[in-house]
Amino acid sequence: MRSLILTRILPPNGSYRAAHGVEGCGASSREAAWSGVSETTQRTVTARWVVPLTSLRDSLRTKRFAALRCVRGSVTALGWQDTYKDQVKATALRKSIPICTFLVLLLPACSLFSPEPVSSSFETMGTRATLTLAGKESSKLSGAADKTKQLMQDLNAELSVYRADSAVSRLNAVAGVRPLEVPEHTRRLFELSKVYGELTSGAFDVTIGPVVDLWRPVKGQTPSLPTDDALTEALARVDFRQIQLMDGAAFLARRGMRVDLGGIGKGYAVDLAWRECRNLAVRNFMFDLGGNVRVSGESESGLAWSIAIRNPFDRSATLARIEMPDDWAVATSGQYERFIEIEGRRYGHIVDPRTGYPAAGLAGVTILAPNATMADALSTGLFVLGPKRSIPIVKKTGAEAVFIPDKQPAELWVTPGIRSKLTVLIPAKVQVLPGW
Ligand code: ADP
Ligand code: MG
Repeated sequence: MRSLILTRILPPNGSYRAAHGVEGCGASSREAAWSGVSETTQRTVTARWVVPLTSLRDSLRTKRFAALRCVRGSVTALGWQDTYKDQVKATALRKSIPICTFLVLLLPACSLFSPEPVSSSFETMGTRATLTLAGKESSKLSGAADKTKQLMQDLNAELSVYRADSAVSRLNAVAGVRPLEVPEHTRRLFELSKVYGELTSGAFDVTIGPVVDLWRPVKGQTPSLPTDDALTEALARVDFRQIQLMDGAAFLARRGMRVDLGGIGKGYAVDLAWRECRNLAVRNFMFDLGGNVRVSGESESGLAWSIAIRNPFDRSATLARIEMPDDWAVATSGQYERFIEIEGRRYGHIVDPRTGYPAAGLAGVTILAPNATMADALSTGLFVLGPKRSIPIVKKTGAEAVFIPDKQPAELWVTPGIRSKLTVLIPAKVQVLPGW
């Protein structure tokens, strides 16, 4: 058996970074065996795998060759190193040619040519959206990207609190004065926001706007802590139950109330885009809006879509990779990207409605859920609640969660259902959520 050192992660979608090492050993025409030592766990991983007929094309395309073996052989870390590419290719080809030729001749219709995934990105809703399609559906990319882009722009025009003419801004402007007609998506989002407000006992509250504003940096001013009076006054205007919904209209019942859909709007937008793609008969894709992701089908050659969680303690590194269940969504909330620094301390943009202060204790929360609206709202709400109080909610909704306490060395507290789908890429302790 030949020995190769494969050190670069080969992701199905090309989006995450090197962090893990695997050694691979040898390959034959029908059978492959891989073994190596994981740099992270220091454990030896081995896999044997028989090449199925449908993967013949992959054996000619060496990148897949390596990836498939690892995945089918249940080795979760995938490895690749460019400098060994040609060598592996030569080995794989030399050993595979006789049987390949025979079977390709016999089964031309079964030849699975799986090109690389293709993607299209655009700026929207204050962040970046990326639609990625499995290679076999690449011809549908530009049509689907145009449609989803239009959808996002229309939704942003309804929801943005940075636009005075949006439906949400106009409703905020008449809070406590009168009801206002609101468009369908805005109304639906209000309904859902109230549901997640109840579910989290008010930890998720979209009327948090006045308090969030107190923690926003103001241009030209040295940031300072809000006074207790200012916090008390702003908190008196926070209560999602005061959003009253009527036929086609909404009323914010208290003067000075302000809705801010920043904790749920992007997830809702992802679900819209996801549905639109499915309506356009796109089956295998992933839609990502600023870290709110929903997947459909498979990436290519039967590989599940994977997503990466960034390391909250080192933004340039990847903490873990998660294999996504089909059709599911994922969102992460943390205080590391958007925060204000006051007197040398960082204060994040997710606020605890009980205290008016930015939620603390966690470095990040990642939620996997059947839809992106739920993942987005829960990631924000459970970030506020903390792991212990989140457990009943996670159980009730059937979501999966990864909590990263704000302490080093890094630890991951996970729901039992996510363990087999999670590959941790840095030295970190992984344990089931205490109290589960
Ligand atoms: P991001 O939008 O940065 O990806 P989140 O989904 O966690 O992160 O949403 C954070 C945003 O949610 C904040 O910028 C703010 O607009 C809003 N928000 C802050 N605190 C709360 C809260 N307790 N409940 C609901 N929304 C909140
Ligand atoms: Mg959120």
